[in-house]
Amino acid sequence: QRGELSRLAGEPSVSADGHRIEIAGNIGSPADAAKVLENGGEGVGLFRTEFLYMGRDSFPTEDEQYEAYRSVLEQMDGRPTIVRTLDIGGDKKLSYMQLPEEENPFLGIRAIRLCLEEEDMFRIQLRALLRASVHGKLKIMFPMIATVDEFRRAKAVLLDEKQKLTAAGTPVGDDFEVGMMVEIPAAALMADAFAKEVDFFSIGTNDLIQYTMAADRMNERLSYLYQPFSPAVLRLIRNVIDAAHRQGKMAGMCGEMAGDERAIPLLLGMGLDEFSMSASSILKARAKAAETSKADMENRIDEILSLASGEEVLEYLENIR
Ligand code: PEP
Ligand code: MG
Repeated sequence: QRGELSRLAGEPSVSADGHRIEIAGNIGSPADAAKVLENGGEGVGLFRTEFLYMGRDSFPTEDEQYEAYRSVLEQMDGRPTIVRTLDIGGDKKLSYMQLPEEENPFLGIRAIRLCLEEEDMFRIQLRALLRASVHGKLKIMFPMIATVDEFRRAKAVLLDEKQKLTAAGTPVGDDFEVGMMVEIPAAALMADAFAKEVDFFSIGTNDLIQYTMAADRMNERLSYLYQPFSPAVLRLIRNVIDAAHRQGKMAGMCGEMAGDERAIPLLLGMGLDEFSMSASSILKARAKAAETSKADMENRIDEILSLASGEEVLEYLENIR
């Protein structure tokens, strides 16, 4: 099967009825970029930059980060590369950074919330990204955005650093994009307002599901609630994709759901533009897309989203063929 699939490695990702999508890879380090390319990834849809900060005893310097981002961009050789700014806090801690204990870490100071509080730390990462932007097709993404104000504040800090670098004579790319993860239900519901301000969305279903269902993504006993196919989750996803398209923006997904073969026809039908997943899932996802008619799935979306439960959705999907 592997041999059959590898034939797809150099091919574009196209549905059975000729609709083009992008299938990209999720990475956690520069070394992972090679795996994405070997598996025929058309870009990086999520570079989790936490790894740069973890397993050490001090913050990575601006130069260390610059080298890591440059390495990924150079390896990707002009393919779109989404780098997510630091998503630390919550359960992910840094030994060298004192953070107050919180009652509900997943509802606490994590990701963009922490970066906006610790602006000096955030600025170092943004400078490293801006300097690296001349080496490829960089798309900068902010995690855990809940309000338009947070996105504006994060983007303002980025543009301030860009202006400072430019004034100092440091080259900065002029075609990098700035987008956000949609992983908080408030952001999914307000996607129309966000879509006017961002260059792209990437839906983070791992967190979006846990926050929509109020079910810890790590708690096995709650797996009956942690349901990617829940119509509640699917309606939020559709809202995000539709809002993006009304503004001519790209909607991608980088949560686990994007690489779930049962979900791909559904997401294709909803119009998702970019699917980002672990490198090992890319070829299977491409094969799945190739056997799916987008138009057929599109015609079924209203019916699927009117079903009453995730179980009913899964059953419907299984019975299509
Ligand atoms: C997500 O929440 O779907 C996501 C991709 O981010 P992470 O898994 O790193 O929280
Ligand atoms: Mg997340």
